[in-house]
Amino acid sequence: MQSKNSGNDIRKTFIEFFEKKGHTFVPSSSLVPGGDQTLLFTNAGMVQFKDIFLGLDERSYSRAANSQKCMRVAGKHNDLEDVGRDDTHHTFFEMLGNWSFGDYYKKEAIAWAWELLTDVWGIDRDKLWVTCFKDEKDEIPADNEAAEYWKQQTGMDPSHILFFGRKDNFWEMADTGPCGPSSEIHIDRGIGYCDKKDDPNHQCGVNGDCARFLELWNLVFIQYNRISKHELLPLPKTHVDTGMGFERIVSVLQDVNSNYKTDILLPLMDVVLKLTGETEKERDENLTPYRVIADHARAATFLISDGVVPGNIGRNYICRMIIRRAARFGTKLNLHEPFMAKVAEKVVDIYGGAYPELVKNRETILDNLTREEKRFRKTLDTGLSYLHEIMQKNKKEKKVSGKEAFELYATHGLPFEITRDIAKEEGYVVDESGFLEAMEQHKVESGAGKEFGPLGGEDADKYAAILSEIVEAGKLAEKVVLNDPYDPAPTKQPLLALIDNGNRVEQAKQGTEVEVVLGKTNFYIQSGGQVSDTGTIAAVDGTWEIRIEDVRKPTTGLIVHIGKVIKGTPKTGDQAVAAVDLQRRHDIMRNHTATHLLHAALRDILGKHVRQAGSLVAPDRLRFDFTHPEALTKKEIKKVEQFVNNAVLENKELHSNEKQLQEAIDEGAMALFGEKYGDKVRTIVIGDEDVISYELCGGTHVDETGEIGSFIIVSEGSAAAGIRRIEAITGRKAQEMIEERFATLERIAESLHVNVDGLEEKLSAVLDKQNELEKQNQELQKSTLMVRYTEAKNEVDEVNGVSVLMLDLGNADSATMREIADRFRSDHSSGVATFAARNEKGEPFFITTLTKDLVSKGLKAGEIVNAAASVVGGRGGGRPDLAQAGGKDASKIKEALEAAKAYCTSKI
Ligand SMILES: [Zn+2]
Ligand SMILES: [Zn+2]
Repeated sequence: MQSKNSGNDIRKTFIEFFEKKGHTFVPSSSLVPGGDQTLLFTNAGMVQFKDIFLGLDERSYSRAANSQKCMRVAGKHNDLEDVGRDDTHHTFFEMLGNWSFGDYYKKEAIAWAWELLTDVWGIDRDKLWVTCFKDEKDEIPADNEAAEYWKQQTGMDPSHILFFGRKDNFWEMADTGPCGPSSEIHIDRGIGYCDKKDDPNHQCGVNGDCARFLELWNLVFIQYNRISKHELLPLPKTHVDTGMGFERIVSVLQDVNSNYKTDILLPLMDVVLKLTGETEKERDENLTPYRVIADHARAATFLISDGVVPGNIGRNYICRMIIRRAARFGTKLNLHEPFMAKVAEKVVDIYGGAYPELVKNRETILDNLTREEKRFRKTLDTGLSYLHEIMQKNKKEKKVSGKEAFELYATHGLPFEITRDIAKEEGYVVDESGFLEAMEQHKVESGAGKEFGPLGGEDADKYAAILSEIVEAGKLAEKVVLNDPYDPAPTKQPLLALIDNGNRVEQAKQGTEVEVVLGKTNFYIQSGGQVSDTGTIAAVDGTWEIRIEDVRKPTTGLIVHIGKVIKGTPKTGDQAVAAVDLQRRHDIMRNHTATHLLHAALRDILGKHVRQAGSLVAPDRLRFDFTHPEALTKKEIKKVEQFVNNAVLENKELHSNEKQLQEAIDEGAMALFGEKYGDKVRTIVIGDEDVISYELCGGTHVDETGEIGSFIIVSEGSAAAGIRRIEAITGRKAQEMIEERFATLERIAESLHVNVDGLEEKLSAVLDKQNELEKQNQELQKSTLMVRYTEAKNEVDEVNGVSVLMLDLGNADSATMREIADRFRSDHSSGVATFAARNEKGEPFFITTLTKDLVSKGLKAGEIVNAAASVVGGRGGGRPDLAQAGGKDASKIKEALEAAKAYCTSKI
């Protein structure tokens, strides 16, 4: 066996092997799935090709090979708890794959897999086993075809071909849709690798679940379309989808018994070893923290490079959580200073060749890691001491409740996963479903359908203390400020607190920036792309006023209005009227509803592959990012605009409802990421009988589409690879733009002394006239130059019977110069001339021409013209009898012509 392949070589060999078999190398797609909002992270090589199998996407190639970045850290495929505790689990990993989209099938896929493993990588044929599909329910035909093709492979032991049922060898994308049998290749690493020898029930063999037999490669043959539980139809085109775990094949080819001992992960643990100063023996006795740090540092490096920086919600939360988890394991190795950046540098070194985005984003990666570690260390000690207090209190039942875990997360920045780690080490359990419930409760209290507010930040502690004070003073019944942005009418209520620079103050002077706490608010808090409301909070008696510019949730349960005192001196306890800027809010609502219509229009006109990839809903415009492989044509943009404007004219009614997530999804609602955690969702439906849009959304909307007014797309461009961006305006902004455009048109018409209707005709007449004048001008210039040439007859020198002319023509175009050169050749039986001129930019330009006799004597026009051009810093070339050259410095034309003349004279 060829055992010392480097990991990078192995990846390269795989890609190149399939390139030689006619495959196109398709670079890994981002860890953030572009088109699939149901997915947190790209978790398989299939993700970027899924739509092809569903018939929603077409590519220019029918064979592809790739190495895909994957993350499995949350949701159904969640290995996080095992990561670091064994040799094989990872959060981030790579998946190698080859793909046929209606092209080759089982025969080639099997032959090539065998060839790569045995011929190219030299794996011992006797150690390989394969599995094929045989239905235990006898409903679907056995895949004897694949088994036959395996038998045909050189050196394949037929007794190593086994059949397994649906669980192991039948692949389905979902309950319905494309599916088919698979064939897996396993390697027998020898009895020494079996880690279940002591288990009396263990059957040591393929799929026996021990470390001796490893699945190396899964070949999936997609040939059916499942239309119901018991009905399969053959697909018109069959496809191949294969997947080989990169870390595993590297460990096999490098002949090591752990992924962490390969040259793609061991160097990361070595960096940590250097930092701790431990010996290798000490490390081997305490491997878990080393493995966690190596794995998580690699994952965080790739995440940040794909734009997922540490944060409080969704993907950003995952990035934060794995950095903090690694940092926490670092403290077990007595690493108390930020260290992740050092490991990440090694990741960039090892992986930068295959994933150049890492090199490009090196600084961002290192900065984010260090910043997050520092932030975590600030709250870690208090968080840990709270946790220990809780554990002390619950000593008897050895349990941490969901609510307690949530508090630790919300107020002390301790991610659930870390609480669970620590609790587990002390023999405690943490109530995960209780945690999720508490989180849900928080969401309901702080505004249904809302994303999680900012939690665990540096100032969260301070704000949590302020909230407690307000609650203890009896001013808030529940520990939460209520939020109902859907009814924006002004409200009357007392000021509960004023906060200046993070500290509570009793009153605030005119001109100060303050944060205001009320018992409830109808200001919208930025989320789902929609910006926060602005407005005023003013004294009921009109003595003071605060202009509100932003609203935020600095900690669980607390909402603050951020603004500036523009009149008087507000005091805690004063009766106040809180008023949202309704005109601005209405502009925002128009843009938000228009965003939903735009989304529907794009899916209708461009296809169902279009998915929202980001949006901004502001008062003056809307911005919508979506997955689509190429720029929209002018025609498509027009169609999209018309679709939305038609929906406006039809004045469709909007309906918002609260529903169970699953119910909404089943009804076909477009789910956006971030609503993922909530069971209860808010839905926005546009239209009655014919629904044109159905989305999950917490934003504010108009009641009827007619309120939107005109919808105008102002730009279309690229936002990222595979992602387009449209910006558009509606309502008052669109009105303004239409008025401006009309005014411009009228001004232009006026200056041409016609009305707008006659403008086109008038303009084309003006342009025709201008073309004619230009032509006349050129003719005139040409005849002037011809006169100049004719007058220069007396400047022609005779050198050994050859006419030599060096002439500066002033401003001339190259066509006229070539015409003059032709004239010179016909005027002289034996002669050489170089003409100089300046082009439109004022740069010098030369043409040299020779009569035939001189050409046959070996004189070359190119050499002469370059003798001139070299003086002005240029070069050129051409035929032996006609050559031209440009240059830079027109002030040296005279010297240049002299140089050309001297060169000619010496040669004649
Ligand atoms: Zn075994
Ligand atoms: Zn929305």
